[in-house]
Amino acid sequence: MIIAIDGPSGAGKSTLGKMLAKRLNLLYLDTGAMYRGVGLAVLESGTSIEDEEEIIEIAENAEIELIGEPDSLQVLLNGRDVSTEIRTNEVGQIASIVSTIPEVRKVLVEHQRNLGENAPEGCVLDGRDIGTVIFPNADAKFFLTAKPEARARRRFEEDLDKGRATTYEQTLAEINLRDERDISRADSPLMIAEDAVVIDTSELNLREVFEQMMRVLRERQSDERTRMARLH
Ligand code: C5P
Repeated sequence: MIIAIDGPSGAGKSTLGKMLAKRLNLLYLDTGAMYRGVGLAVLESGTSIEDEEEIIEIAENAEIELIGEPDSLQVLLNGRDVSTEIRTNEVGQIASIVSTIPEVRKVLVEHQRNLGENAPEGCVLDGRDIGTVIFPNADAKFFLTAKPEARARRRFEEDLDKGRATTYEQTLAEINLRDERDISRADSPLMIAEDAVVIDTSELNLREVFEQMMRVLRERQSDERTRMARLH
């Protein structure tokens, strides 16, 4: 079973993706962490953000792994645990710039598709292009969204919790900048897949969104059972 979760930053995709993966015993794949891994590799190499050729080479050579259970997922870059380092706003911005380069996307898309296809029980993937590009035939597609102010508030509180220095205004500006880049890029822009279930999480708590998603999945399963019964 493949579950696709797409949407802008701060809509709750990763928290809910992890909750679903745990409940359904599926692999959880944070595809944004992979773009962040490439972003960090670019930052550490000192490469100019304008130097596309060099960035593509870095993406092709970077070995990015996600290991562990959803709750304690570790992101490895060339064998080094970079789970904390990739979460800074600076790395987020670089990730969003490198993710506009088609050759970089090609490398990561292939990697993500392979991991999803080879997961024995199936996989929950969260990102921006899961339901539109990576798994257009996913069993269920969700598009989680929320008002920019609600998303910035959550991100800001998360940053405060983790001891990262920032202000609400700065977080809001950064989220808007990243969203704008994700929506307007030519290759695989952030879009709502035609058959995605859209959930606005602005006024909902995690439990409410989770229950809504589980309801959709149960309905899908019962539709599938009815379809199979008709075939026999
Ligand atoms: O999800 P997260 O905010 O960690 O992703 C970091 C950046 O990676 C996003 O702003 C987006 O530009 C890019 N990304 C992408 N496609 C994905 C996942 C993330 O372009 N599937």
